[in-house]
Amino acid sequence: STPPVKVAVTGAAGQIGYSLLFRLASGALLGPDTPIQLRLLEITPALKSLEGVVMELDDCAFPTLDSVEIGDDPNHIFDGVNLALLVGARPRTKGMERGDLLSANGAIFTGQGKALNDHAADDVRIGVTGNPANTNALIAMTNAPDIPQERFSALTRLDHNRAISQLAAKTGSKVSDITKMTIWGNHSATQYPDIFHAEIGGKNAAEVVGDQSWIENDFIPTVAKRGAAIIEARGASSAASAASATIDAARTWLTGTPEGDWASMAVRSDGSYGVPEGLIYSFPVTTSNGDWEIVQGLEIDDFSRAKMDATAQELVEERDAVTELGLI
Ligand code: NDP
Repeated sequence: STPPVKVAVTGAAGQIGYSLLFRLASGALLGPDTPIQLRLLEITPALKSLEGVVMELDDCAFPTLDSVEIGDDPNHIFDGVNLALLVGARPRTKGMERGDLLSANGAIFTGQGKALNDHAADDVRIGVTGNPANTNALIAMTNAPDIPQERFSALTRLDHNRAISQLAAKTGSKVSDITKMTIWGNHSATQYPDIFHAEIGGKNAAEVVGDQSWIENDFIPTVAKRGAAIIEARGASSAASAASATIDAARTWLTGTPEGDWASMAVRSDGSYGVPEGLIYSFPVTTSNGDWEIVQGLEIDDFSRAKMDATAQELVEERDAVTELGLI
């Protein structure tokens, strides 16, 4: 069989972790023939709870799960990892200003970036789910100078999946008929879900919908505010779908996008589409063998341009804030 893959998960005892670990262990990432070694990082007070999760992982007797290691030291947990899923982050609590949030997370992601730099495997890929995901990825990337910058990405796949689901419901189509969905920008309320290049069974999605008002006043806000709607409905955040999207994103990155389709991934901007270079910005990308490429040449109209610029502007402000804090 194939050699085992070492996967680190941070915040492993959290809500997302509770969905993510079981799917990773069951082979959802690379199939049942690739053994998986889990390396789980938590803050010290959460280690006991993490031990309980590991007991449950044991009890599942997953044939794909080769080993599990837990700890609170990133230098040890990240040792030799091929994939690092950075889920743990400091949530925004009541009365916390954005600057407080950025500095609390800055401390986490500078340390983890350095630890990955010094200890991860040469082929490491790093996916950031913990919020503010784009800027956390920027901090980790900047603090890991020896890791190629294209190895860092932040998660917009959940937004991408949400957009596909909304479009399928609107048009009575199957999710599997929808291709070329794009999320531009930040994983935040300013993100721009774009169906002007998407296709349904090969036909242009915006033309199939034929309703600009639905796109502007229904689709875009529904996708952008879906997280809040789920908290409102279930009284807890969208952890299972975030875990599922985290796996989708990593699998696509490592194994490739299908012919004729692309995925949304927040990656370092090279200036494509006028997005300021160096921002971690979500683009349409094709992937193969662990590498990604930004899809080029899409026509951007004034409506899309304004939305792409607004979400870029938010990321510039976040970058300025963490620069001022000395985190990058
Ligand atoms: P969750 O597992 O629910 O969420 C973890 C992170 O994912 C948060 O930043 C959250 O952002 C983000 N996220 C991204 N997309 C989504 C989505 N669609 N729905 C929900 N969350 C999303 O948080 P918990 O508080 O349950 O668990 C976090 C764990 O991380 C804790 O166990 C804590 O101890 C740990 N932690 C570990 C660290 C480490 O390993 N060094 C550092 C910091 C924390 P948002 O806050 O915006 O919901």
